[in-house]
Amino acid sequence: MDQKIVVGVGNIYANEALFLSGIRPNRAAGRISEARYQRLADQVKLVLTSAINHGGTTLRDFVGGDGKPGYFAQQLYVYGRGGEPCKHCSEKLQESRISQRTTVYCVACQR
Ligand SMILES: [Zn+2]
Repeated sequence: MDQKIVVGVGNIYANEALFLSGIRPNRAAGRISEARYQRLADQVKLVLTSAINHGGTTLRDFVGGDGKPGYFAQQLYVYGRGGEPCKHCSEKLQESRISQRTTVYCVACQR
């Protein structure tokens, strides 16, 4: 299995779960309260369940041959949508790179 693709898929879910939890990706891990960690853990489970329910039984369903999100991209709130309006509040989504990974988040919804 191509490690880059696996990491890429994990990054997509991380972006989505952080958005749904309202946590900004560049926040230092030690500064997140236990309650918010729990919410994040719950969202990760929901995002994965949702992905599977949308027919994603293989990696090819999530990531196309070019490495960009494929079919599942239709369901994404933030990943791959930098510069586009937030689906919750219409604020322009910010894109930045953290540790070599592209991260997209909403400055209004995520703190
Ligand atoms: Zn927003």
